[in-house]
Amino acid sequence: MKPNYIDHIGIAVKSLNESIPFYETLLGTKCYAIEEVADQNVKTAFFLIGQTKIELLESTDPEGPIGTFLEKKGEGIHHIALSVENTDEALLESKENGFALIDRRSRKGAEGMNIGFLHPKSTHGLLIEFCSK
Ligand code: ZN
Repeated sequence: MKPNYIDHIGIAVKSLNESIPFYETLLGTKCYAIEEVADQNVKTAFFLIGQTKIELLESTDPEGPIGTFLEKKGEGIHHIALSVENTDEALLESKENGFALIDRRSRKGAEGMNIGFLHPKSTHGLLIEFCSK
């Protein structure tokens, strides 16, 4: 399944309050949504550039995925999300191609998207997310 475009780049930050003004200045656009995704222990903030979004991720739990990422690596790019027609099909096809999956089935992410992650151990260290509407 060929991705259509880069849906968003996920960036781990220590504080949305501190990072949002920086990104608003850098990108010349206002943050258009802030949403907590309890399932993943994150609070997200979105910016739109063309059809690609920047997703800032603040941890709400030091033991959660962003909390542990910040502890290990500090702030910076956390994942790249590829827009696909169908996340479940993309996960299945990736499994058939021998990639390790974090999610065997899609789940609900921010903005009601169906999302699923590949495991970075089989993607040269890059955390890749598939997402579809
Ligand atoms: Zn994402």
